[in-house]
Amino acid sequence: MSSKYPVVLIAGDGIGPEVSDAVVEVLKAAGAPLEWISCDAGLAALGKGKDVMPEETLDAVKKHHVALKGPCTTPVGKGFTSVNVQLRKKLNLFAAIRPVRSLDGVPTRYEDVDLVIVRENTEGLYSGVENRITSNVVTTLKIATVEGTERIAKRAFEYVQKRGRKKLTVFHKANIMKMSDGLFLDSVAKLHKDFSDVPYDTQIIDAGCMKLVQDPTKFDVLLMENFYGDVVSDLAAGLVGGLGVVPGSNIGFEDAVFEAVHGSAPDIAGKGIANPLALLMSSVMMLNHMYEKYGDKQIHAAAESIKAAYNKALSDGEKTGDLGGSLGTQEFAKAVISRLS
Ligand code: ATP
Ligand code: MG
Repeated sequence: MSSKYPVVLIAGDGIGPEVSDAVVEVLKAAGAPLEWISCDAGLAALGKGKDVMPEETLDAVKKHHVALKGPCTTPVGKGFTSVNVQLRKKLNLFAAIRPVRSLDGVPTRYEDVDLVIVRENTEGLYSGVENRITSNVVTTLKIATVEGTERIAKRAFEYVQKRGRKKLTVFHKANIMKMSDGLFLDSVAKLHKDFSDVPYDTQIIDAGCMKLVQDPTKFDVLLMENFYGDVVSDLAAGLVGGLGVVPGSNIGFEDAVFEAVHGSAPDIAGKGIANPLALLMSSVMMLNHMYEKYGDKQIHAAAESIKAAYNKALSDGEKTGDLGGSLGTQEFAKAVISRLS
């Protein structure tokens, strides 16, 4: 009998609570030894009279080091800083790692897509520094620091090396943004000296995007600045079946927050039709992360069993509407649970 490991659960807004419920059920049925610490963020927190990113939620993640998070909505205007930006910056979750893979049972234009997007998560165009200069002029600052660019370059090279991936491709626009993207490229070149066995190349992002949609199988691990990573993540999701099937993690030095790439999907919220798979896949990434950390075989077994079960469900044609099926959120969760080994 192994012990239970604490995990902070932020259900989120929009489709967040629906998909989180479904994922928690699957994890429980798979025997994952987890103890959930529920915390609020986003509209759910505001509704309870708290800040959009309550200090107690940040403290809980700092204490337990691992969180599973649904999408959170930040109200537009009224001076709120994005929940996601705050979480990533305050916990220094500087690397977003997003595997984008073809799934059996989800036919798309390409087979064998196997990409990983490594997105810088704390600076770049999403630094949140905006100013009104005059009544007619506003600015948004794109920030690149030596520390920020070097740590993400290091993390990306480590990822390629540790996972035995083939190569790293850096997307940039240093021909126009000579200073910020130039520094990003300089840091990659500098860090490459410590990872000389890892092949890497660079692509100007517009041309890179064209090549990515022409033949995604030519790419392996992609590294880019915050804003580019946001856009290219959704683009890449479209290559493998959409936002319902792309998981993600936000990882710093100490803490890790696992969440799907998709947002709160207000258009389908509350209808019970959202695909919980992206968050479920994120939870499998979380279990793998915890297995690396704690070495508990029960965690590993749960991860393997869930992965096999959702793959089997998809190949059996058990799918939600976004993938052309007819199952609701809960029904898909049940289809996975009935296939757990
Ligand atoms: P946010 O501002 O929170 O990012 P959004 O309006 O950008 O919200 P997304 O969540 O990014 O919405 O979703 C974009 C589109 O993809 C929407 O039409 C949404 O319904 C669909 N979508 C996103 N996630 C899922 C999911 N898990 N299952 C089914 N459809 C989804
Ligand atoms: Mg979105």
